[in-house]
Amino acid sequence: MPLAVPQSVLDGLTDVAMPKRHPSRAPSRFVDVAGSRLPHYVCEALVLGSGAAGWRAAVEMQRRGVDVMVATQNLYGGTSACSGSDKQTLHTASGSGHGDDFYALAEALGAGGAMDHDTAYVEAVGSLRALSSLHYLGLPLPVDGFGAPLRYQTDHDEAGRATSCGPRTSRLMVKVLAEESARLGVTVINRCTAAKILVAEGRVSGLIAFHAAARAPDNPMGLVVFTMGALVLAAGGPGELYRDSVYPKHCFGALGLALEAGIEAVNLTESQFGIGTPRDGFPWNLSGTYAQSLPYIYSVDPEGVERNFLGNYYRTTQELVSNVFRKGYQWPFHASRMLDFGSSLVDLAIFRETQGGRKVFMDFNRNPEPVPGDAAFSLERLDGDVRAYLENNDALLATPIARLARMNPLAIELYRRYKKDITRTPLEFAVNNQHMNGGISVDTWGRSSLPGCYAIGEAAGTHGVTRPGGAALNAGQVMGQRCAEHFAATRPQPRDDLLTQRMLEPEVAALLNLVQANGGRDVMAVAREVQARMSDHAGFICSPADVSAARGEARALNTDLGRRGLRATRPDEMVRCVQWRHMALVSEAVLTALDCYVTQGGGSRGARAICCSQGTAVPETRYGPLEAFRFRAERNQDRRVKIIVRCEPKGFVCETRPLRPFDATRTAYFERDWGRFLSGALYD
Ligand SMILES: Cc1cc2nc3c(=O)[nH]c(=O)nc-3n(C[C@H](O)[C@H](O)[C@H](O)COP(=O)(O)OP(=O)(O)OC[C@H]3O[C@@H](n4cnc5c(N)ncnc54)[C@H](O)[C@@H]3O)c2cc1C
Repeated sequence: MPLAVPQSVLDGLTDVAMPKRHPSRAPSRFVDVAGSRLPHYVCEALVLGSGAAGWRAAVEMQRRGVDVMVATQNLYGGTSACSGSDKQTLHTASGSGHGDDFYALAEALGAGGAMDHDTAYVEAVGSLRALSSLHYLGLPLPVDGFGAPLRYQTDHDEAGRATSCGPRTSRLMVKVLAEESARLGVTVINRCTAAKILVAEGRVSGLIAFHAAARAPDNPMGLVVFTMGALVLAAGGPGELYRDSVYPKHCFGALGLALEAGIEAVNLTESQFGIGTPRDGFPWNLSGTYAQSLPYIYSVDPEGVERNFLGNYYRTTQELVSNVFRKGYQWPFHASRMLDFGSSLVDLAIFRETQGGRKVFMDFNRNPEPVPGDAAFSLERLDGDVRAYLENNDALLATPIARLARMNPLAIELYRRYKKDITRTPLEFAVNNQHMNGGISVDTWGRSSLPGCYAIGEAAGTHGVTRPGGAALNAGQVMGQRCAEHFAATRPQPRDDLLTQRMLEPEVAALLNLVQANGGRDVMAVAREVQARMSDHAGFICSPADVSAARGEARALNTDLGRRGLRATRPDEMVRCVQWRHMALVSEAVLTALDCYVTQGGGSRGARAICCSQGTAVPETRYGPLEAFRFRAERNQDRRVKIIVRCEPKGFVCETRPLRPFDATRTAYFERDWGRFLSGALYD
């Protein structure tokens, strides 16, 4: 980027103001339950969550004349509004300078296995519409002088299908969609957290939620009730699940809520882990140009002694710096990339440093130190792809900060806004949990296993073992649009008769039973227990024995919570109690799926290395093999199936199912297929 970018442009792309006013509505009536008077809202469709996915569904429904409401824990909370990376990525069709085709893109989306083939095709086809409509709504996507979107290569992406508006891409998506929602008059209820899905006659009938504004002497907990024709779960991923996490704070998602209602989840074994700054400061991914500018990575021990630890892993300085560079577009940890001195050896090395009690830093003012005994860092000694990238971007400059400023000034600006001047001070970072690829199991319209309930965005488990960078945002947009289209075509109406006082009484009583003034478990202690268990035993490095033991502990915690409940003395603490009860369920579900996968002989793939002494692969360092990290290799047969998890009265059960196919040879013919569209048979 040789041209100086005006500060006002940098400001506009990093400090994104959100629309303030959204219409609200009064409850349709009040219902008396358990001594409280609860506001009762009725709508055709209720969208739970106001991230990029939720707004998309709401806008698409309202445009189709559906009476839709958005209920959300935090209007501009969640991952889309609050997180990002160097330049947050949106993945779409068309790239590489010479066109694309949907089959090739679908293949790339599902390349890691365990992804339904029909979903991959739907996301590929839908990406064009998602991108162009965002563009139309005002998303400032960069284009060249001919109007073609500017693109680059990102994780799991061989064709360069990524585009971006900078580090705040998803926040900008939220902004344009929220503006559209306000223009269209979608009703929004903010500070409203779902507590219980209500099911009657085998389909979703309603929802109980906490709504801060509803607290009153005759409703001390602030409970509200919704009746709707359909519920769209767009509540994001379970970001609070891990202690070592780069999610923004307070992301609980709706997975626990859904599991409790008996809804099936899929691929919970699959997540993403990678390098980022910790969430007690400013959680942010250190992908893309942060790594491609080739900063010096080092650790510091408790005595303050600095270690060029990567020098103990790679054989030459050139190999070391080239792999640091590749963390830019091979950002998520991937077990097989620990082999052959690949880029995930960087993650493993960082993991070992932090396990050893040392802090790890990235310094943009120093070039990488050499591997002991090898030549010093030089821009003349880089692998071909690395040298070409820096050369093509006019970034063959003397220091990392100069290279970063040239390639991506927004990356510096962003940390400055959060009081971190990386032009002066190194950044502390670690390997963190970042995304759940699995989630609620859905079909190609976003329908879950519970009739009337859709799931979209990170709440839905639409990805497989790997996903190209940017595929998460794309999936949320495509499925948000698809579920709206499906609902508008089928239009199940809210059934007030199903939501009777007799049905509500035990549900509210169960909530009160969970939340105890005395005797219940301390909610913050439960939070620490769940997060520590997940980070220490179900992170990106794990072992079969550990996973199995952790599953048992997670089960014991849920049994205890069922018996003793959680302690709360104030109404806002009640919300936390329900959220941590849900998170404890999610933790058990993930560990059950992982245990099931590992016990059946599943090997290392995507997010995780399954380490054991009988493993057939071992990461090497310049000093020899790391036997403690010997791991099981992936098995091909596991790529063709997905693991379903369900909560039954006796506990969680797992089931392996084949992937849904997609017949790429079945060409669409206009007259033959038009009828299915005109008659609505398409939506069956
Ligand atoms: C650091 C980082 C970088 C990332 N980079 C990329 C990237 O470059 N490209 C990409 O494609 N993806 C990326 N992702 C993933 C992507 O950002 C998320 O998957 C996506 O933003 C999720 O959008 P969503 O709308 O599903 O959920 P969110 O944006 O998380 O929104 C969830 C909404 O639901 C609300 N909510 C939650 N629980 C409840 C409840 N019980 N009741 C009511 N409301 C509730 C929340 O308040 C929020 O409004 C990144 C993630 C992280 C953490």
